[in-house]
Amino acid sequence: MTEIVPNRLAGRRIVLTGGAGGIGAAAAARLVAEGAAVGILDKDGIAAKRVAGELQNAVCLECDVTSQDSVTTAVNAVAAELGGLDGVVTCAGIARSGLPHEMSFEDWDAVIKINLTGSFLAIRAAVPFLLEAGGGAVVTIGSVASLISANTNTCGYDASKHGVVGLTRSVAVGYAEQGIRANCLCPGVVDTPLARKAREENGVTSNAVANTPLGRRADPSEMASVISFLLSSDSSFMTGSVVTADGGLTTR
Ligand code: NDP
Repeated sequence: MTEIVPNRLAGRRIVLTGGAGGIGAAAAARLVAEGAAVGILDKDGIAAKRVAGELQNAVCLECDVTSQDSVTTAVNAVAAELGGLDGVVTCAGIARSGLPHEMSFEDWDAVIKINLTGSFLAIRAAVPFLLEAGGGAVVTIGSVASLISANTNTCGYDASKHGVVGLTRSVAVGYAEQGIRANCLCPGVVDTPLARKAREENGVTSNAVANTPLGRRADPSEMASVISFLLSSDSSFMTGSVVTADGGLTTR
Protein backbone atom coordinates (compact mmCIF):
# COMPACT_ATOMS: atom_id res chain seq x y z
CA MET A 1 0.00 0.00 0.00
CA THR A 2 0.98 3.63 -0.29
CA GLU A 3 3.25 5.34 2.23
CA ILE A 4 2.62 8.68 3.91
CA VAL A 5 5.26 11.33 3.22
CA PRO A 6 5.41 13.23 6.54
CA ASN A 7 5.19 17.03 6.30
CA ARG A 8 5.06 17.03 2.53
CA LEU A 9 2.06 19.36 2.71
CA ALA A 10 2.92 21.12 5.97
CA GLY A 11 1.05 24.40 6.23
CA ARG A 12 -0.95 23.90 3.03
CA ARG A 13 -4.64 24.76 3.10
CA ILE A 14 -6.68 22.63 0.73
CA VAL A 15 -10.39 22.55 -0.09
CA LEU A 16 -11.97 19.39 -1.55
CA THR A 17 -15.37 19.01 -3.16
CA GLY A 18 -16.99 15.59 -2.86
CA GLY A 19 -14.80 15.27 0.21
CA ALA A 20 -17.05 12.69 1.88
CA GLY A 21 -16.95 10.31 -1.09
CA GLY A 22 -14.63 7.36 -1.57
CA ILE A 23 -11.75 9.18 -3.25
CA GLY A 24 -12.45 12.53 -1.53
CA ALA A 25 -12.41 11.11 2.01
CA ALA A 26 -9.24 9.10 1.33
CA ALA A 27 -7.61 12.22 -0.09
CA ALA A 28 -8.66 14.34 2.89
CA ALA A 29 -7.16 11.81 5.30
CA ARG A 30 -3.93 11.59 3.31
CA LEU A 31 -3.52 15.36 3.02
CA VAL A 32 -4.00 15.81 6.75
CA ALA A 33 -1.55 12.98 7.45
CA GLU A 34 1.00 14.83 5.31
CA GLY A 35 0.54 18.09 7.20
CA ALA A 36 -2.25 19.98 5.41
CA ALA A 37 -5.36 21.60 6.82
CA VAL A 38 -8.41 20.63 4.79
CA GLY A 39 -11.89 21.90 4.08
CA ILE A 40 -14.21 19.02 3.27
CA LEU A 41 -17.20 20.02 1.15
CA ASP A 42 -19.94 17.59 0.20
CA LYS A 43 -23.59 17.57 -0.78
CA ASP A 44 -24.06 15.22 2.15
CA GLY A 45 -23.19 17.51 5.07
CA ILE A 46 -23.57 14.74 7.66
CA ALA A 47 -21.11 12.49 5.84
CA ALA A 48 -18.70 15.43 5.48
CA LYS A 49 -18.94 16.01 9.23
CA ARG A 50 -18.22 12.34 9.88
CA VAL A 51 -15.10 12.43 7.67
CA ALA A 52 -13.87 15.70 9.20
CA GLY A 53 -14.56 14.41 12.72
CA GLU A 54 -12.02 11.64 12.22
CA LEU A 55 -9.27 14.09 11.24
CA GLN A 56 -7.15 16.48 13.28
CA ASN A 57 -7.00 19.44 10.99
CA ALA A 58 -10.26 19.56 9.08
CA VAL A 59 -13.37 21.65 8.72
CA CYS A 60 -16.46 20.63 6.81
CA LEU A 61 -19.42 22.23 5.11
CA GLU A 62 -22.42 21.13 3.11
CA CYS A 63 -21.98 22.21 -0.50
CA ASP A 64 -23.81 21.42 -3.73
CA VAL A 65 -21.36 21.92 -6.61
CA THR A 66 -24.19 22.62 -9.04
CA SER A 67 -25.05 25.84 -7.20
CA GLN A 68 -22.88 28.91 -7.69
CA ASP A 69 -24.02 30.36 -4.38
CA SER A 70 -23.42 27.16 -2.47
CA VAL A 71 -19.89 26.73 -3.87
CA THR A 72 -18.86 30.35 -3.40
CA THR A 73 -20.23 30.49 0.13
CA ALA A 74 -18.59 27.21 1.15
CA VAL A 75 -15.19 27.95 -0.40
CA ASN A 76 -15.15 31.44 1.14
CA ALA A 77 -16.05 29.96 4.53
CA VAL A 78 -13.28 27.35 4.33
CA ALA A 79 -10.76 30.01 3.29
CA ALA A 80 -11.84 32.19 6.21
CA GLU A 81 -11.55 29.28 8.62
CA LEU A 82 -8.14 28.11 7.34
CA GLY A 83 -6.73 31.61 6.78
CA GLY A 84 -6.55 31.26 2.99
CA LEU A 85 -6.13 28.49 0.42
CA ASP A 86 -3.19 26.86 -1.36
CA GLY A 87 -5.05 24.19 -3.26
CA VAL A 88 -8.36 22.86 -4.51
CA VAL A 89 -9.33 19.28 -5.39
CA THR A 90 -12.54 18.63 -7.31
CA CYS A 91 -13.73 15.15 -6.31
CA ALA A 92 -17.51 15.61 -6.54
CA GLY A 93 -18.85 13.41 -9.28
CA ILE A 94 -21.57 11.07 -10.42
CA ALA A 95 -21.90 8.44 -13.13
CA ARG A 96 -24.90 8.02 -15.41
CA SER A 97 -25.10 5.58 -18.29
CA GLY A 98 -26.99 5.39 -21.57
CA LEU A 99 -26.43 5.82 -25.27
CA PRO A 100 -27.70 9.19 -26.49
CA HIS A 101 -31.09 7.79 -27.58
CA GLU A 102 -31.55 6.06 -24.22
CA MET A 103 -30.38 8.82 -21.92
CA SER A 104 -32.81 11.29 -20.42
CA PHE A 105 -31.99 14.97 -20.67
CA GLU A 106 -32.10 15.06 -16.85
CA ASP A 107 -29.34 12.44 -16.56
CA TRP A 108 -27.22 14.18 -19.19
CA ASP A 109 -27.71 17.53 -17.51
CA ALA A 110 -26.92 16.17 -14.03
CA VAL A 111 -23.67 14.50 -15.08
CA ILE A 112 -22.44 17.59 -16.93
CA LYS A 113 -23.51 19.93 -14.13
CA ILE A 114 -21.85 17.97 -11.34
CA ASN A 115 -18.74 16.63 -13.05
CA LEU A 116 -17.84 19.52 -15.34
CA THR A 117 -19.65 22.68 -14.24
CA GLY A 118 -19.09 21.73 -10.60
CA SER A 119 -15.34 21.52 -11.22
CA PHE A 120 -15.42 24.92 -12.91
CA LEU A 121 -17.38 26.51 -10.05
CA ALA A 122 -15.01 25.14 -7.40
CA ILE A 123 -11.94 26.33 -9.30
CA ARG A 124 -13.54 29.72 -9.95
CA ALA A 125 -14.28 30.17 -6.25
CA ALA A 126 -10.83 28.99 -5.11
CA VAL A 127 -8.59 30.81 -7.60
CA PRO A 128 -8.82 34.27 -5.96
CA PHE A 129 -7.44 32.74 -2.76
CA LEU A 130 -4.66 30.92 -4.61
CA LEU A 131 -3.71 34.21 -6.29
CA GLU A 132 -3.74 35.91 -2.91
CA ALA A 133 -1.40 33.19 -1.61
CA GLY A 134 0.97 33.83 -4.51
CA GLY A 135 0.23 30.53 -6.24
CA GLY A 136 -1.18 27.10 -5.58
CA ALA A 137 -2.32 23.83 -7.05
CA VAL A 138 -5.54 22.68 -8.68
CA VAL A 139 -6.21 18.95 -8.95
CA THR A 140 -9.20 17.86 -10.97
CA ILE A 141 -10.52 14.32 -11.11
CA GLY A 142 -11.08 13.05 -14.60
CA SER A 143 -11.30 9.36 -15.42
CA VAL A 144 -10.11 6.88 -17.99
CA ALA A 145 -13.31 8.18 -19.62
CA SER A 146 -11.41 11.47 -20.10
CA LEU A 147 -9.19 9.64 -22.57
CA ILE A 148 -11.07 6.72 -24.04
CA SER A 149 -14.65 5.55 -24.26
CA ALA A 150 -14.05 2.49 -22.13
CA ASN A 151 -17.71 1.50 -22.16
CA THR A 152 -20.30 1.48 -24.88
CA ASN A 153 -22.98 3.46 -23.10
CA THR A 154 -21.52 6.29 -21.04
CA CYS A 155 -21.78 9.25 -23.41
CA GLY A 156 -22.65 11.83 -20.74
CA TYR A 157 -19.96 10.68 -18.33
CA ASP A 158 -17.36 10.49 -21.10
CA ALA A 159 -18.27 13.97 -22.36
CA SER A 160 -18.10 15.46 -18.86
CA LYS A 161 -14.73 13.85 -18.15
CA HIS A 162 -13.22 14.89 -21.48
CA GLY A 163 -14.39 18.39 -20.56
CA VAL A 164 -12.61 18.21 -17.22
CA VAL A 165 -9.31 17.66 -19.06
CA GLY A 166 -9.96 20.69 -21.26
CA LEU A 167 -10.84 22.79 -18.22
CA THR A 168 -7.68 21.67 -16.43
CA ARG A 169 -5.40 22.46 -19.35
CA SER A 170 -7.00 25.85 -19.77
CA VAL A 171 -6.52 26.65 -16.08
CA ALA A 172 -2.90 25.45 -16.30
CA VAL A 173 -2.11 27.78 -19.18
CA GLY A 174 -4.20 30.69 -17.89
CA TYR A 175 -2.63 30.91 -14.45
CA ALA A 176 0.90 29.58 -15.05
CA GLU A 177 2.45 33.02 -14.74
CA GLN A 178 0.74 33.52 -11.40
CA GLY A 179 2.19 30.33 -9.97
CA ILE A 180 -0.94 28.21 -10.09
CA ARG A 181 -0.47 24.69 -11.46
CA ALA A 182 -3.39 22.52 -12.57
CA ASN A 183 -3.30 18.79 -13.22
CA CYS A 184 -5.94 16.15 -13.85
CA LEU A 185 -5.88 12.72 -12.20
CA CYS A 186 -7.59 10.08 -14.34
CA PRO A 187 -8.40 7.02 -12.22
CA GLY A 188 -9.28 3.58 -13.49
CA VAL A 189 -11.75 1.57 -11.44
CA VAL A 190 -11.53 2.51 -7.76
CA ASP A 191 -13.43 0.69 -5.05
CA THR A 192 -15.90 3.41 -4.01
CA PRO A 193 -19.68 3.76 -3.75
CA LEU A 194 -19.77 5.29 -7.26
CA ALA A 195 -18.02 2.30 -8.84
CA ARG A 196 -20.03 -0.21 -6.81
CA LYS A 197 -23.29 1.41 -7.94
CA ALA A 198 -22.17 1.40 -11.59
CA ARG A 199 -21.30 -2.30 -11.30
CA GLU A 200 -24.64 -3.19 -9.72
CA GLU A 201 -26.61 -1.19 -12.27
CA ASN A 202 -24.98 -2.28 -15.49
CA GLY A 203 -21.75 -4.19 -14.93
CA VAL A 204 -19.78 -1.31 -16.47
CA THR A 205 -16.92 -1.46 -14.03
CA SER A 206 -16.67 -5.28 -14.15
CA ASN A 207 -15.74 -5.03 -17.83
CA ALA A 208 -13.18 -2.37 -17.04
CA VAL A 209 -11.59 -4.45 -14.28
CA ALA A 210 -11.41 -7.44 -16.63
CA ASN A 211 -9.50 -5.20 -19.08
CA THR A 212 -7.15 -3.81 -16.41
CA PRO A 213 -3.65 -5.33 -16.72
CA LEU A 214 -3.11 -5.15 -12.94
CA GLY A 215 -6.32 -7.20 -12.67
CA ARG A 216 -8.01 -5.40 -9.80
CA ARG A 217 -9.78 -2.27 -8.61
CA ALA A 218 -7.70 0.41 -6.93
CA ASP A 219 -8.08 1.23 -3.28
CA PRO A 220 -9.08 4.91 -2.81
CA SER A 221 -5.80 5.46 -0.94
CA GLU A 222 -3.99 4.77 -4.24
CA MET A 223 -5.70 7.86 -5.69
CA ALA A 224 -5.09 9.91 -2.54
CA SER A 225 -1.34 9.43 -2.84
CA VAL A 226 -1.36 10.81 -6.39
CA ILE A 227 -3.56 13.74 -5.39
CA SER A 228 -1.14 14.57 -2.59
CA PHE A 229 1.81 14.39 -4.99
CA LEU A 230 0.06 16.70 -7.47
CA LEU A 231 -0.67 19.24 -4.70
CA SER A 232 2.87 19.14 -3.40
CA SER A 233 6.10 20.71 -4.61
CA ASP A 234 7.21 17.18 -5.59
CA SER A 235 5.28 17.87 -8.80
CA SER A 236 6.56 21.44 -9.21
CA PHE A 237 7.29 21.13 -12.95
CA MET A 238 3.95 19.50 -13.74
CA THR A 239 1.08 21.57 -15.02
CA GLY A 240 -1.60 20.74 -17.57
CA SER A 241 -0.71 17.08 -17.08
CA VAL A 242 -3.21 14.30 -17.43
CA VAL A 243 -2.07 11.64 -14.99
CA THR A 244 -3.54 8.17 -15.30
CA ALA A 245 -3.66 5.87 -12.29
CA ASP A 246 -5.61 3.10 -13.95
CA GLY A 247 -3.75 -0.17 -13.46
CA GLY A 248 -2.82 0.00 -17.13
CA LEU A 249 -6.39 0.08 -18.46
CA THR A 250 -5.74 2.78 -21.07
CA THR A 251 -2.66 0.99 -22.39
CA ARG A 252 -4.82 -1.76 -23.93
P1 NDP B 1 -18.23 8.68 -4.59
O1 NDP B 1 -19.66 8.50 -5.03
O2 NDP B 1 -17.73 7.80 -3.52
O3 NDP B 1 -17.97 10.19 -4.19
C1 NDP B 1 -18.49 11.26 -4.90
C2 NDP B 1 -18.89 12.31 -3.91
O4 NDP B 1 -19.42 13.43 -4.62
C3 NDP B 1 -20.00 11.80 -2.96
O5 NDP B 1 -19.69 12.12 -1.63
C4 NDP B 1 -21.22 12.56 -3.46
O6 NDP B 1 -22.17 12.82 -2.45
C5 NDP B 1 -20.58 13.85 -3.92
N1 NDP B 1 -21.48 14.59 -4.77
C6 NDP B 1 -22.36 14.12 -5.69
N2 NDP B 1 -23.07 15.13 -6.20
C7 NDP B 1 -22.64 16.26 -5.60
C8 NDP B 1 -23.01 17.61 -5.69
N3 NDP B 1 -23.97 18.03 -6.52
N4 NDP B 1 -22.36 18.50 -4.92
C9 NDP B 1 -21.39 18.10 -4.06
N5 NDP B 1 -21.01 16.84 -3.90
C10 NDP B 1 -21.64 15.92 -4.67
O7 NDP B 1 -17.36 8.52 -5.91
P2 NDP B 1 -15.79 8.47 -6.10
O8 NDP B 1 -15.08 8.87 -4.88
O9 NDP B 1 -15.49 7.21 -6.76
O10 NDP B 1 -15.64 9.60 -7.22
C11 NDP B 1 -14.85 10.77 -7.04
C12 NDP B 1 -14.47 11.27 -8.44
O11 NDP B 1 -13.66 10.27 -9.07
C13 NDP B 1 -15.67 11.45 -9.36
O12 NDP B 1 -15.48 12.60 -10.14
C14 NDP B 1 -15.64 10.23 -10.25
O13 NDP B 1 -16.21 10.48 -11.52
C15 NDP B 1 -14.15 10.01 -10.34
N6 NDP B 1 -13.78 8.67 -10.76
C16 NDP B 1 -14.13 7.59 -9.99
C17 NDP B 1 -13.79 6.32 -10.41
C18 NDP B 1 -14.14 5.10 -9.63
O14 NDP B 1 -13.96 3.99 -10.15
N7 NDP B 1 -14.61 5.22 -8.39
C19 NDP B 1 -13.08 6.12 -11.67
C20 NDP B 1 -12.76 7.31 -12.39
C21 NDP B 1 -13.11 8.54 -11.93
P3 NDP B 1 -23.43 11.81 -2.29
O15 NDP B 1 -22.83 10.50 -1.94
O16 NDP B 1 -24.22 12.44 -1.21
O17 NDP B 1 -24.12 11.79 -3.63
